[in-house]
Parts: sequence; structure tokens; C-alpha cells
Amino acid sequence: MNENVEDGIIKNSRVCGEIYQPVPNKHFAVINPSKMCQPMGAVQVLLGIRGAMPLIHGSQGCSTYMRFQLCRHFREPVNVSSTSMSEGTVVYGGEGNLLKALETISKEYQPEIIGVTSSCLTETIGDDMALIIRKFRQKHPDMELPSIIPVSTPSYAGSHVEGYDKTIKSLIENLAYSSEPNGKVNIITGNVSPADVREVKDILELLGCESIILTDTSESLDAPHTDSVSFLPSEGTTVDEIRNTANSKATVPLCRHADSGAKFLEKRFNVKSISGFLPVGLQSTDSFISSICKLNECEVPVKLEKDRGRLIDAMVDAHPYNYGRKVAIYGDPDIVIALARFTAELGMIPVIVCTGTKSSRFLKDMKFVAEEGCFSPVVLEGCDLYDLHRQIKGNPVDLLIGNSYGARIAKEENIPLLRIGFPIYDRLGAQRMPMVGYKAGIHLVDILANIILERYYDESGHEIES
Ligand code: SF4
Repeated sequence: MNENVEDGIIKNSRVCGEIYQPVPNKHFAVINPSKMCQPMGAVQVLLGIRGAMPLIHGSQGCSTYMRFQLCRHFREPVNVSSTSMSEGTVVYGGEGNLLKALETISKEYQPEIIGVTSSCLTETIGDDMALIIRKFRQKHPDMELPSIIPVSTPSYAGSHVEGYDKTIKSLIENLAYSSEPNGKVNIITGNVSPADVREVKDILELLGCESIILTDTSESLDAPHTDSVSFLPSEGTTVDEIRNTANSKATVPLCRHADSGAKFLEKRFNVKSISGFLPVGLQSTDSFISSICKLNECEVPVKLEKDRGRLIDAMVDAHPYNYGRKVAIYGDPDIVIALARFTAELGMIPVIVCTGTKSSRFLKDMKFVAEEGCFSPVVLEGCDLYDLHRQIKGNPVDLLIGNSYGARIAKEENIPLLRIGFPIYDRLGAQRMPMVGYKAGIHLVDILANIILERYYDESGHEIES
């Protein structure tokens, strides 16, 4: 018997770099999931494309859930259409509904592209969406039709992380074609905030690097207030840019769980794929900037060097407060890895890390980050917030980092929560919250240190008993 384990709770030992993976003690249910369904990731990709209409082939509840969740996180109007399946169409198949929906959307809204994502229901009855889309084209030979892309997103076999990845890949598979080299770099951002996409674009501009962003949500999901309302995204990546990704010199996926499209481009069109950790904090941002500099054959500009220096300065300033603080981090695998690496850079100890997505890559990357930062976390992979809560009870932490779903645990355990990731519905500003790049790193250091000061220090600046 492992003396380090007591009632399924791993008592953290201090073996540098070792990760501990407990087996959840329940197999019958998920309680408070730490993930969302596949079409949620798919819809977020599509909302970053100019003139795109997401169409969920399923019952109305699926699209209502997406809109509800996206609206309350981004605080923007979001349109997601539905094939509105009912009892009858489930029995006889959803072909008629999908054909009708494609016709109505094409005629009424004239989108540039329709992304058709399946749901649990239509995957279970086995609707062949690609075949139905072909039939639709044959039925309307004289109509000017948008690009129509099918994406298979059964939610019982994956999370929003896989939904995001599959949609990027499907867009590239269906649209990209080889022509003249364009000298650009494709960037697959992964499921980060519009503020992060903006920051990535700013960094690329400073480096003089022309790029194709897959996909650009910086305007559509964080739009300025204007007099007009646009039903479809009026900004974002264009369909032509997606076609042109086959002619770029490289693809840089910022999230390792969103790199299938990059691998496809490498295999099919010989476009090099350079994957790294999400550029959060010092080392990961250094690696990202160094990759772009190599590709673009350029030097790091003074402005970025100064931003880097300011981040180091902020880390030094905050060190007395952050050092040795135990944190639990949960959410999307790439965000959890990135934040674990960053908090370790700050001298904090990531004691528990949790993602709802099943991923061997998460385990591998966490092992690397733990060895590098010399910490030994309890790793919950494919687990839920019930598992996270149990581990927190056995391994108390000073701070919780993750989305709004963890607010109840924070309250019950009387520990502060830094809200970051998706979804955040009980605070404002999620769409404006950056974590990517040096400047965002400074912002995060200040937030973290101020949370610690607020909770663990008195008004005279003396540390209090927790
Ligand atoms: S889990 Fe399945 S049924 Fe539920 S909203 Fe997602 S796709 Fe629809």
C-alpha cells in the first residue's frame, strides 16, 4: 500500500518533478464537469471568421446553451443557428432539417461560410453531414452558395478543446489549396481571449511578421460599441486567408491541443509546424518570440525587450508575497500547463492541476513543466471539480486559479480565486482579460500578488495567519 495515499487523496511529497495521478474513486458520474461540449469549441472558432454562421445540427437546446454561455462570458450578442431537430426527425433522420436550414441561412443571411457542427443527437442517429451538404449543392446548381464546412463534434467523445481543434482542421482540410508562397506565418491561437488575440497580433506587428490568424476573435467577440448591429461577424479571418494557409512558410499553434490543422498543413503542403507552450509568463513568451524571430529573420525590437524587463521587475517586486504560496489550477489543458509554468516562475507551488479533457499530452507536458520548475503536483486528467475539491481538502492551497465553475469551492474552503479561462460569468471583463505575452504577464503578477496581499496580509502589511 502506498503510504502517500489516504482515502484516495494523495499527500504531496516533495520529490522534485514527480507527478502524482490519483484514480478518481467514482466511475459512475461526472460531478461539476471541468469541460464543455465539443460544439462550444467549434462555435468559438467560427465566430472568428468574417461572415461566418455556425449551424448546430441538433436540437434547439444545443444552440441555446452555446449562445447563453458565450453571451454571458463575452458580453456580446452571439448568433448560433440550429437545425431544430424534434422527435419525428430523430426517428426518420435529420437530412430534411439540415437541407432546409442550409437553404434558409444561405438565402436570408448570405454568409461567406457556414460551419455545420454535429451534436450528440445527430451523431447517435448517424446523419452523414458531408453527404447531405453535397446533396444540397446538387439541389441548388444555380444558387451562389457559401463555403459549407462539416465538423463532427459528438460531445460524448470529447470536450470543447477537441471541438476547437477539429474545426480548425476541418476548415483547413476543406479550404486550403496550394498556389504562390505568401511569406506569412499561420498562427493558431487556441481558445484564448479576444484580448490575447489582439496582443499576439501586436507582437507580430512589432516583429514585422505578416500572419494569418486562425481564427481572429479580437473584434467579433470584443467589439467596440457602434450605431450598427451586424448579424454575422463583420471582422475576423477571411475565407481567402484560410485558403491561403497552404502557402505560408510555417504554422505556429500557440496551444498544443489545437495543432491538428498545423500537422495537416505540414503533411499535405509542407508548411512547417512549430508548436510550443501557450506564451504565458517569461520562458514561454521568450520561446514564442524566438520562433517568430527565426522564421522572420529579425531581431527582438527594443519595445519588446523593455516589456520583458518590466515583467522581470514585476516578478521581483511580487516575489516576497508569491514565494512558496500553494496554488491549485484547473481548466483547459494548455491554459493549466501555461499557468503552472508561470506560477512556478513566480516561486509559487502548483500543488494540484486539473483538466476535464482526457489527454496524454497534458500528462507529458505537465511532467516536463514540473521537472523544470521542481514541483510535484497532483495531476487530475479527465477529472471533474468534485475530484479537484477532494484533493484540495487533502492538500490545502492558498489560491485557486481557474474559471467561474470553481467559485463554490473557493467559497467553501475560504480561499481566494483568480478567475481566468472560460467560462467566466460571475465577473465582468473576461473578453478583455489578457494572459499572453510580457505585458499580460505583468498584469497577472500584479493581480496574483494583490490577491495574496488582500487575503493573507493585514492593513499594515503584516502577514496574518491563514
Ligand atoms: S452535450 Fe450534446 S446535447 Fe448537450 S448541448 Fe452539447 S451537443 Fe447538445
